[in-house]
Amino acid sequence: MKITNVATAVIAGNFPWVLVRIETDTGVTGLGEAYWGAGVAELVHQAKPLLIGQDPTNIGRLFDIMIRCLSGEGSQAGATVTAISGIEIALWDLLGRAHGVPISTFFGGRYRETIRIYADCHAGKTPDPADYAEKARQTVADGYTALKFDLDTPNPYTIDVTDDPHPRRHWFEPFNRVIGNQEMRWMVDVVRAVREAVGPEIMVGMDAHWKFNVNDAIKLAQALEPYDLLWLEDPIPPENIEAQRHVTHSTRTPICTGENLYRKHGYRELIEKQAARIIAPDIPKMGGLMEAKKVADHADLYYIPLAPHNVASPIGTVAAAQVCASMNNFLVMEFHSTDVPWWDDLVDGEKAIRDGFIRLGEAPGHGLTLNEDVARGHLKPGTSFFGDAP
Ligand code: MG
Repeated sequence: MKITNVATAVIAGNFPWVLVRIETDTGVTGLGEAYWGAGVAELVHQAKPLLIGQDPTNIGRLFDIMIRCLSGEGSQAGATVTAISGIEIALWDLLGRAHGVPISTFFGGRYRETIRIYADCHAGKTPDPADYAEKARQTVADGYTALKFDLDTPNPYTIDVTDDPHPRRHWFEPFNRVIGNQEMRWMVDVVRAVREAVGPEIMVGMDAHWKFNVNDAIKLAQALEPYDLLWLEDPIPPENIEAQRHVTHSTRTPICTGENLYRKHGYRELIEKQAARIIAPDIPKMGGLMEAKKVADHADLYYIPLAPHNVASPIGTVAAAQVCASMNNFLVMEFHSTDVPWWDDLVDGEKAIRDGFIRLGEAPGHGLTLNEDVARGHLKPGTSFFGDAP
């Protein structure tokens, strides 16, 4: 079997979903997805000459060829790795379809048939903690057993702090990363309201998007300890692993980070220094399915669970779920498109997420078939539908 074509279609979801299709001389095809980002579809097309004529079943070899040959384009991290991730996922789908087995078979089979999903709830309608509580109650009523809110919105860098009455907008001074006492009280009030709304058993995460300094991050994490969060995500910027470790080891609120990192090398120090309690690789961004499994196995040496970050369409989401089924240390995976009513329509058949879980079947590959009419209807303007150029 030889690869005959590599093509993309960028779908305008709540993020641009970069779909990657690989075709072969046998007629078997694979469909993957890369995380969004400027230039990602272009980079997929740039990798195409490396793939045409190659045996698509040698996935590790093809991954290494792309990493090495695209090093000038930045394949240590960033958009190039993201593009390669979309190609890699398409190759696993193709391999599964060629052999008539689901992708999880290639990663050692499954620890579980259902993948727990957490709903990213964004913020409340207003800064009132009661709005957060109401949104949390609705999400649980929709069947979810896990949910997450943004604890730091709206983005303090874009607002006029002098002209707004809402407490959460009075960011004390965003550039020094200080949490004022008023903001601290507001954040604790939000978390308390959500916990009281959903009860003690629902998993509740909170995301702080890298905003705070070490001391205030520790104060916040300790103040949230009574509410037994699933995690507090990215309370400090992501670059300094020693600082991450200090925050993580200063609180019993679990600290989660990792959506900014790429490839197994990117996670090495974070894992080996045990600088996070939970790590959150974005699988269609950080290197794809096999790279995510390697990170999971590395994390498991330190008994650290994985909770993948995810903003993908059903293609990237279910493909990631296939490898999550093969990770003993998988915890929960994100769903970030509750506001996209046609998310499920992008693929044929049953809804991918039902009652807060993905149920993996026995269909080959990731098991999904793109609904081309829906995909064309939401194609990003100015881009091709699996044509010769992005
Ligand atoms: Mg996050």
